[in-house]
Amino acid sequence: MESNQPVHNPSAIFRRKTREIQVGNLKLGGDNPIRVQSMTTPKTEDVDAVVDQVDKLVAAGCEIIRITVNNIGAANALPKILERVKIPVIADVHFDYKMALEALKYDGISCVRINPGNIGPEWKTLEVVKAARDAGKAIRIGVNAGSLEKPLLKKYGHPTPEALVESALASIALFEKQDFYNFKVSIKSSDVLSNYRAYTLLSMATEAPLHLGVTEAGTKNYGAVKSSVGIGSLLLAGIGDTIRVSLSTDPVEEVKTGVYILKSLGLKNDAPEIISCPSCGRADIDVYALAEEVERRALGLKKNIKIAVMGCVVNGPGESMEADIGIAGGKGEGLVYKKGKPIGKVPEKDMLAFLMAEIEKM
Ligand code: SF4
Repeated sequence: MESNQPVHNPSAIFRRKTREIQVGNLKLGGDNPIRVQSMTTPKTEDVDAVVDQVDKLVAAGCEIIRITVNNIGAANALPKILERVKIPVIADVHFDYKMALEALKYDGISCVRINPGNIGPEWKTLEVVKAARDAGKAIRIGVNAGSLEKPLLKKYGHPTPEALVESALASIALFEKQDFYNFKVSIKSSDVLSNYRAYTLLSMATEAPLHLGVTEAGTKNYGAVKSSVGIGSLLLAGIGDTIRVSLSTDPVEEVKTGVYILKSLGLKNDAPEIISCPSCGRADIDVYALAEEVERRALGLKKNIKIAVMGCVVNGPGESMEADIGIAGGKGEGLVYKKGKPIGKVPEKDMLAFLMAEIEKM
């Protein structure tokens, strides 16, 4: 569904050209869409709980899922999960390279994430690279400020952006020396400014696609704001091929925030945008309730449309006419506009159903 709006042209943001890689059935990097990722929270051995959560995340817009493989029980649960999950799955591995090798045995796995700071000696990484190359899988080099290699911590004193970049570049050089290019890189810090500097420095030094995130961003509200600033500023600078918002709450919130970040920058053309007014003393309808419910019901809709929910006639008709569909509140009723034209007056109690039925048709 094409929007009738001239705004939010994805080409409006210059995107740094990166190498295209293959992660399961998705291509990442190059001119491909920026993808939203998340990570499951139940124990991986609890297959039903993991699959149930992935289903909810996919419904919210998650396109790639990462699952911890922290022991052999988790590795053994993978095939049962993989046969029920349809989006690319990344095995998240720390410390024990053998878990990466275990995960790479399964056809359905798309990628393994390893952390150079805690995987140990180089030969272990090389084993993983060889296994991924032989299996035609991808790797994410996941550098993290909280777990940088000890020699780099000693050299720089702290996990500075330069230290993170040095760690990432060493892994990149090692991978490329093995003629292995099907990898992406993340270089996350919990500090927005350090994060920005690290990613911008790294983007100047490699063509590898970059996975963005502000690590350990925080709770639902503050973490969402911090991630929006941290990830959004990098996207505006043309950096980033996939994103993950890290929040201390239900990962559905991470996915929603990730989708909204991309949508707000015109970098997502398969999700609706909802604009709504803050309401004020002029409003004669319950804008908050209507906007919240429209947003909830529109979550996961694969429609590139703009929906306006406005409280009164001050800005309501103008915004509603500019949107693909919109409602401007009046006294206990709302005037609905579609593609710039009024299509009906609806009593307040019927506004939500009317709006959603019209959206459904679009
Ligand atoms: Fe207030 Fe109307 Fe503006 Fe909404 S559109 S904030 S109700 S003046």
